[in-house]
Amino acid sequence: MPRLGKMERELLRGAVSKPATVVYPATKRGLNIPKGLRGRWEYAEPAKCTGCKICERVCPSGAIEMIECRPEDVKTKTGYRPICHFDRCTLCNQCVESCPRNVLRLTGEFEMAYLSREDMVIY
Ligand code: SF4
Ligand code: SF4
Repeated sequence: MPRLGKMERELLRGAVSKPATVVYPATKRGLNIPKGLRGRWEYAEPAKCTGCKICERVCPSGAIEMIECRPEDVKTKTGYRPICHFDRCTLCNQCVESCPRNVLRLTGEFEMAYLSREDMVIY
Protein backbone atom coordinates (compact mmCIF):
# COMPACT_ATOMS: atom_id res chain seq x y z
CA MET A 1 0.00 0.00 0.00
CA PRO A 2 1.40 3.38 -0.97
CA ARG A 3 2.31 5.78 1.80
CA LEU A 4 -0.08 8.74 2.13
CA GLY A 5 1.29 12.24 1.92
CA LYS A 6 0.37 15.01 4.34
CA MET A 7 -2.27 16.40 2.01
CA GLU A 8 -3.91 13.03 1.37
CA ARG A 9 -4.09 12.37 5.11
CA GLU A 10 -5.67 15.80 5.63
CA LEU A 11 -8.22 15.15 2.87
CA LEU A 12 -9.15 11.80 4.35
CA ARG A 13 -9.50 13.29 7.82
CA GLY A 14 -11.77 16.03 6.42
CA ALA A 15 -13.91 13.49 4.56
CA VAL A 16 -14.75 11.46 7.66
CA SER A 17 -14.85 14.10 10.40
CA LYS A 18 -17.90 16.08 11.59
CA PRO A 19 -18.34 19.40 9.74
CA ALA A 20 -17.29 22.48 11.70
CA THR A 21 -20.00 24.60 10.08
CA VAL A 22 -23.81 24.47 10.25
CA VAL A 23 -25.96 24.17 7.12
CA TYR A 24 -27.85 27.34 7.98
CA PRO A 25 -30.49 28.40 6.88
CA ALA A 26 -31.46 24.85 5.88
CA THR A 27 -31.38 23.99 9.59
CA LYS A 28 -30.85 25.82 12.86
CA ARG A 29 -29.55 22.65 14.54
CA GLY A 30 -26.11 23.19 15.90
CA LEU A 31 -26.29 26.99 15.82
CA ASN A 32 -24.66 28.53 18.84
CA ILE A 33 -27.31 31.09 19.82
CA PRO A 34 -26.14 32.96 22.94
CA LYS A 35 -28.49 33.06 25.92
CA GLY A 36 -30.06 36.50 26.27
CA LEU A 37 -29.60 37.35 22.59
CA ARG A 38 -31.54 40.51 21.83
CA GLY A 39 -33.74 39.17 19.11
CA ARG A 40 -37.33 40.08 18.44
CA TRP A 41 -39.42 40.71 21.55
CA GLU A 42 -42.99 39.51 22.01
CA TYR A 43 -46.12 40.65 23.78
CA ALA A 44 -45.85 37.64 26.00
CA GLU A 45 -48.29 38.25 28.86
CA PRO A 46 -51.23 40.26 27.51
CA ALA A 47 -53.31 39.51 30.60
CA LYS A 48 -50.82 41.48 32.71
CA CYS A 49 -50.73 44.54 30.45
CA THR A 50 -52.46 47.63 31.83
CA GLY A 51 -52.03 49.66 28.65
CA CYS A 52 -49.98 52.23 30.59
CA LYS A 53 -47.99 53.26 27.48
CA ILE A 54 -44.62 53.32 29.27
CA CYS A 55 -43.14 51.03 26.60
CA GLU A 56 -44.23 53.46 23.90
CA ARG A 57 -42.79 56.46 25.78
CA VAL A 58 -39.37 54.91 26.42
CA CYS A 59 -38.80 53.59 22.90
CA PRO A 60 -36.04 55.73 21.38
CA SER A 61 -36.97 54.71 17.83
CA GLY A 62 -40.69 55.37 17.92
CA ALA A 63 -41.20 51.72 17.03
CA ILE A 64 -44.01 51.08 19.50
CA GLU A 65 -47.53 52.23 18.78
CA MET A 66 -50.41 51.91 21.19
CA ILE A 67 -53.54 50.76 19.44
CA GLU A 68 -57.05 50.28 20.74
CA CYS A 69 -57.55 46.69 21.86
CA ARG A 70 -59.16 44.66 19.10
CA PRO A 71 -61.99 42.21 19.83
CA GLU A 72 -59.46 39.33 19.75
CA ASP A 73 -57.14 41.08 22.24
CA VAL A 74 -57.16 40.79 26.00
CA LYS A 75 -58.76 44.06 27.10
CA THR A 76 -56.36 46.23 29.10
CA LYS A 77 -57.28 48.79 31.77
CA THR A 78 -56.85 51.76 29.43
CA GLY A 79 -58.23 49.94 26.40
CA TYR A 80 -54.91 50.23 24.55
CA ARG A 81 -52.16 47.72 23.82
CA PRO A 82 -48.72 48.00 22.21
CA ILE A 83 -47.76 46.81 18.75
CA CYS A 84 -44.27 47.06 17.28
CA HIS A 85 -43.08 48.33 13.93
CA PHE A 86 -39.99 46.14 13.75
CA ASP A 87 -38.64 47.96 10.73
CA ARG A 88 -37.82 50.77 13.19
CA CYS A 89 -36.82 48.67 16.21
CA THR A 90 -33.11 48.62 17.08
CA LEU A 91 -33.59 45.76 19.57
CA CYS A 92 -32.25 47.95 22.37
CA ASN A 93 -34.41 46.11 24.93
CA GLN A 94 -35.49 49.33 26.65
CA CYS A 95 -39.20 48.54 26.38
CA VAL A 96 -38.72 45.05 27.84
CA GLU A 97 -36.74 46.44 30.79
CA SER A 98 -39.10 49.34 31.42
CA CYS A 99 -42.40 47.48 31.41
CA PRO A 100 -43.51 47.52 35.06
CA ARG A 101 -45.56 44.33 34.61
CA ASN A 102 -43.04 42.17 32.71
CA VAL A 103 -45.41 41.84 29.79
CA LEU A 104 -42.76 42.00 27.06
CA ARG A 105 -40.17 39.28 26.61
CA LEU A 106 -37.15 38.73 24.41
CA THR A 107 -37.46 35.71 22.18
CA GLY A 108 -33.94 35.38 20.78
CA GLU A 109 -35.56 35.22 17.33
CA PHE A 110 -33.06 36.75 14.95
CA GLU A 111 -34.58 35.86 11.59
CA MET A 112 -36.27 39.11 10.72
CA ALA A 113 -36.14 39.39 6.96
CA TYR A 114 -39.52 40.37 5.54
CA LEU A 115 -40.80 41.25 2.11
CA SER A 116 -42.71 44.35 3.18
CA ARG A 117 -42.92 46.84 6.03
CA GLU A 118 -46.50 45.75 6.70
CA ASP A 119 -45.21 42.26 7.50
CA MET A 120 -42.92 43.80 10.10
CA VAL A 121 -45.77 45.08 12.25
CA ILE A 122 -45.94 42.54 15.03
CA TYR A 123 -49.04 42.24 17.22
S1 SF4 B 1 -46.54 46.30 27.76
FE1 SF4 B 1 -45.98 47.01 29.80
S2 SF4 B 1 -45.28 49.09 29.53
FE2 SF4 B 1 -46.39 48.52 27.67
S3 SF4 B 1 -48.48 49.21 28.01
FE3 SF4 B 1 -48.40 47.09 28.70
S4 SF4 B 1 -47.92 47.22 30.89
FE4 SF4 B 1 -47.46 49.21 30.02
S1 SF4 C 1 -36.40 47.13 21.66
FE1 SF4 C 1 -35.88 49.32 21.78
S2 SF4 C 1 -36.22 50.11 19.73
FE2 SF4 C 1 -37.25 48.14 19.85
S3 SF4 C 1 -39.35 48.61 20.40
FE3 SF4 C 1 -38.25 48.21 22.31
S4 SF4 C 1 -37.54 50.20 23.02
FE4 SF4 C 1 -38.12 50.41 20.87
